[in-house]
Amino acid sequence: MTTLLYSHEACLDHDPGPHHPESPDRLRAVLAALAADEFAPLLRREAPRAAREDIARVHPGDLIDGLLAAVPKSGHVGIDADTIMSPGSGEAALRAAGAVCAAVDAVVAGEAGNAFCAVRPPGHHAEPRRPMGFCLFNNVAVGALRARDVHGCRRVAVIDFDVHHGNGTQALFEDDADLFYASTHQSPLYPGTGASDETGVGNVVNVPLAPGSGTVPFQRAFNERILPALEDFRPDFLFISAGFDAHRRDPLAQLDLAEADYTWATGVLARQAARHCGGRLVSTLEGGYDLAALGASAAAHVRALMAA
Ligand SMILES: [Zn+2]
Repeated sequence: MTTLLYSHEACLDHDPGPHHPESPDRLRAVLAALAADEFAPLLRREAPRAAREDIARVHPGDLIDGLLAAVPKSGHVGIDADTIMSPGSGEAALRAAGAVCAAVDAVVAGEAGNAFCAVRPPGHHAEPRRPMGFCLFNNVAVGALRARDVHGCRRVAVIDFDVHHGNGTQALFEDDADLFYASTHQSPLYPGTGASDETGVGNVVNVPLAPGSGTVPFQRAFNERILPALEDFRPDFLFISAGFDAHRRDPLAQLDLAEADYTWATGVLARQAARHCGGRLVSTLEGGYDLAALGASAAAHVRALMAA
C-alpha cells in the first residue's frame, strides 16, 4: 500500500525566534531527508487548514478563537516561556492539525495504507485548555477525534514515542475508555507528567525511562507494557505521535535511541495496525531537535511505514 506524506510550506512560517530549538529548520531537515530517491513512491499532498469544528472536538471554541486572535502582526507573542507565536503561527497551526485530519480521511477512504504528517508546530503537550511546550493545537488528538466522530472508528489509540510525555493527549484521553494513550518518555524531564501509575480508566500506559536508556529498555517497554495493552484494546485506528528527540544526539534529552529503534517501533506498530484495523495508521511529527538525527530518524520511520 502507498504511504501518504502531508506537509505545507506554511508550517515553515511559524518562527518562535532565532534561539528556539523548535525552529523551521527542523521541518526543512525532515523534508530534505524525504527528498531522497527512495521516497519517490510517497504520495505527497499539501495539508489543508483544519476546520474549526475539527479542532473544537479537542479545544474549547473560546481558546481556538483567542489563540488565533493573539497571533501577532509582527514580532513575537509568548504564550508561556517556551511557546511563542510569530505572524505565521496561526496558519501553521491550522495546517498542522489539518494535515492529520486529511490523512485520516485519506486512509479511511483507502487512498493510502498509512500516512506521515511532516508538520509543525508539534501538538502533544497542548492540553484542551492550555497550549504549552512548543505546541498550539493538539494535532494528533484532533485527528483521533475526527476518526471517531466522522468515520465511526469507535476505538482509537495514540502511541507516543517522543522523549517527552504527551500530557495534552493524556489529559484529553484519560477519562474515555474508548480512547487509548501509551507513551515512552524520559523521566525526570519536562513536563513532569507520565508516571507509571497514571493509568486513566485503564486506557493509559506510561513507561518512564531513566536517562541513558537505550534499545533494551525501549523495546522492553513496548513488548511488556504497550503492545499487550494495545492488543487488548483492539484499536479501530492507530496514531503515532512521532517525536525523534529520544535519539542519542538530541540536545534536549538524554535517552540513547538511534534510527534503528524508530524502524523497529514503527514496524511493530504497523503490524498491530494490520492485525486490528486494516493497517489504518497515521503518524505525525512531534519533537526532535538535532537536525541531522531528526532527518535520519524521520526517514527511518517513513521507510518503515512504506514497508508496512
Ligand atoms: Zn519532545
